[in-house]
Amino acid sequence: MKNARIPAIDTVGDHIAWSYANLARADAALQDGFTAYQRIHHIIRTKLFHGLKNGTMAMRSLYDDERIKMTVPQACYYCGSTDKLSVDHLIPRISGGADDSDNLIWACRSCNSSKQGRDMLEWMKKKQSFPAILLLRRYLKLVARYCDEKDLLSTSMPDALQRNLPFDLSLIPHSFPPLTELTLWVYPETPVQAQQRS
Ligand SMILES: [Zn+2]
Repeated sequence: MKNARIPAIDTVGDHIAWSYANLARADAALQDGFTAYQRIHHIIRTKLFHGLKNGTMAMRSLYDDERIKMTVPQACYYCGSTDKLSVDHLIPRISGGADDSDNLIWACRSCNSSKQGRDMLEWMKKKQSFPAILLLRRYLKLVARYCDEKDLLSTSMPDALQRNLPFDLSLIPHSFPPLTELTLWVYPETPVQAQQRS
């Protein structure tokens, strides 16, 4: 029998909304310190998905994500290292990612050279890794904003997958690793670790 909890996904908007709702479920559980989902977390996911779908709820602005830039110590968004940081376009500029601060994050030398011009999810898939929840949140918001601007949210998924987009919609996750394998944020290295590395 099909899992009754998984809704029908027809459009790009549904696809992104379901990923975002799963993200919100993981976010809530992690913020509360749970290692397994509770009923309340499933309710959060269902309510948010339906709210996004019928327009009674909206994804929050990138303001919260931008605030992280100012409140956490400057470190690589992918691994927490402080080694030779430079800015990285989360959605590559070369494939159409915006050149504004919402799309810019810190990346260390090692992550930068490993990621190169790849899209974040493509790169993560290659190294069999999963982004920190708050990084994925920023990414999903950027994808949603792009699709909204290009009027793609009501496009069917099969049609959208034929298009040449700056990201691969098929990589936007609907199933997430277990909570015990997820983190809200990368842990910036301590000054001692930084010293040991150099
Ligand atoms: Zn790094």
